Amino acid sequence: MKNRTEIDDTGGLASIVPPLLKWYEKNARALLWRRNTDPYRVWVSEIMLQQTRVETVIPYYERFMARLPDTESLAGTDEDQLLKLWEGLGYYSRARNLQKAARTIMAKYGGKFPENYGEILSLPGIGQYTAGAIASICFSQPVPAVDGNVLRVIARLTGCKENVSDPKIKDEIRGMLADIYPTERSGDFTQSLMELGATVCLPNGLPRCAACPVADLCGAYRSGTQTAIPVKAKKTPRKKEQKTVFLLRCGDMIAVRKRAADVLLGELWEFPNAEGNLTVKQARSVMAQWGVSAVELVPGIRYKHVFTHIEWETTSFAVTCENMAAAFLWVTKEKLADDMALPSAFRPFLKTI
Ligand code: SF4
Repeated sequence: MKNRTEIDDTGGLASIVPPLLKWYEKNARALLWRRNTDPYRVWVSEIMLQQTRVETVIPYYERFMARLPDTESLAGTDEDQLLKLWEGLGYYSRARNLQKAARTIMAKYGGKFPENYGEILSLPGIGQYTAGAIASICFSQPVPAVDGNVLRVIARLTGCKENVSDPKIKDEIRGMLADIYPTERSGDFTQSLMELGATVCLPNGLPRCAACPVADLCGAYRSGTQTAIPVKAKKTPRKKEQKTVFLLRCGDMIAVRKRAADVLLGELWEFPNAEGNLTVKQARSVMAQWGVSAVELVPGIRYKHVFTHIEWETTSFAVTCENMAAAFLWVTKEKLADDMALPSAFRPFLKTI
């Protein structure tokens, strides 16, 4: 990396270790997954926290741990229950990979979480960041865990003006950190960097430099470039898709179906829907193809759901049906709410029933 001069002037990146550890001792938040260093607890928390805020994760984590307290119970649960526990967290492949990895741990390691970094990294759904977090926090190995928070902190400290989304820069930051890891307190150092990124060296606007334990070592702080760093590649605008959702009811029963495996939200439940924001006439034509005879059709709510790369602009129709068309599974509202995983993109419609 070309822009390491600021931190190099102050004795190298290693000089951040003592003040960060000291700061972490006093300022670590008492998070549920920090109660001990059981790798199962740390692993589940790290997977849940990917793309999801701490406040959102807490109730999910509590519920998950109450129902599936260890690797064995996770490996043995059925997928519907697992996805129900994950309902609303999004990125459902994370839950499926958790279970695949739990089954691997049971089959290959006799239920004992592997301690070796390479073995941890080889588990389904575990990348370099999560493997580093588990290896350092649970097994005291000096392996960095570099996610967006840590990239931001190190880029600012070193005054790095290169694109941190570039895998080469990320590797370089990981290498710089590996060189300075304190072997006797690897887990605390990992968590101190995460904590600084989450509570002080914040994204989007000015970080809280006045509260920062390493401000006097920080290149971005000294040059006033905190908001310009980290440099990131420009995001491509989200693709917009229009959909029409059909809330088909026959007595107390509601129509649902499973999504295809190879699409967004694959193999999760959904309300029947069609591409485009349909007119009444178009909606009737689609329902005829499904074998639905409608007694009444009323326009329902509109809802916009934002995924990472796509936005769904959805309209809906509430439809009273004469028959339970064979194309769908018909369930009660209670069954759907209690036992079936309905993604957030469809849940607002359930509330209108
Ligand atoms: Fe981040 Fe400011 Fe601390 Fe630098 S001084 S690491 S920009 S919070």
